[in-house]
Amino acid sequence: MSLHIQILRNYYENRVMPLNFEYHEEAKTVDIEFADRSVVRYYDIAPTVAFLDSRNPARARDFFNYLESMRLHNLACPITGNCDCRIDLKAEVVLEATRELPEPETRPLLVSQQSGVHT
Ligand SMILES: [Zn+2]
Repeated sequence: MSLHIQILRNYYENRVMPLNFEYHEEAKTVDIEFADRSVVRYYDIAPTVAFLDSRNPARARDFFNYLESMRLHNLACPITGNCDCRIDLKAEVVLEATRELPEPETRPLLVSQQSGVHT
């Protein structure tokens, strides 16, 4: 499973949220620290994307929406989100997770999208 797919899975299962966004303007990279203490560096990120704005109260959600927007769905995909299609975004793990993940929530954040995928 690719890095992006795993990050989105963790989000849809309501397990791992991003805590910090550190943007480097010259390199156009953003280092994102997640709740499990892992850090992922994303490349070629425009300074105008919504999740870089520290005054944005919904930046975590906007970050995951951004990942979904970079997804290249294959022809058979119903495009309901939370699928396994490739996400076309350059990124690398710069720090591995050092914290155990909590158990998945019994009521996932996006119930409707998830049930749509599995029917
Ligand atoms: Zn898809």
